[in-house]
Amino acid sequence: MEDKKRFITNMFFYVVTCCFVIGLFCIPSAFASQRCFKCCGSGVWHTDNKIPCSGKGCSYCIKCNGCGGSGQIPDSAKRCESCKGLGQVHSGKKVCTGAGCRGCTSCKTCDTKGWVGS
Ligand SMILES: [Zn+2]
Ligand SMILES: [Zn+2]
Ligand SMILES: [Zn+2]
Ligand SMILES: [Zn+2]
Repeated sequence: MEDKKRFITNMFFYVVTCCFVIGLFCIPSAFASQRCFKCCGSGVWHTDNKIPCSGKGCSYCIKCNGCGGSGQIPDSAKRCESCKGLGQVHSGKKVCTGAGCRGCTSCKTCDTKGWVGS
């Protein structure tokens, strides 16, 4: 009898753990279903275009503030018209160098996120 009781308890924990794990993976993707405009879904933002990105552990990469590092933004989010989804607006004669560009200023329309809406 003791064994059966233990078995049921174990099964219960197994089911609860399964539900928790499934929920953990399914719920965020249900709320966020499109790729972040700013980082193209990578979750990180490379800030210096002169130095090639070395990938994981790159010291010029920062967590993308458009998506909070998840790479996903809500489906209802719309690309910011002012910055075209970059989160920054270029001004000046020099060619824009991208993420860490000195001629760029933070986009006020989207608060540097690259998208508007909720
Ligand atoms: Zn990088
Ligand atoms: Zn992002
Ligand atoms: Zn620029
Ligand atoms: Zn913007």
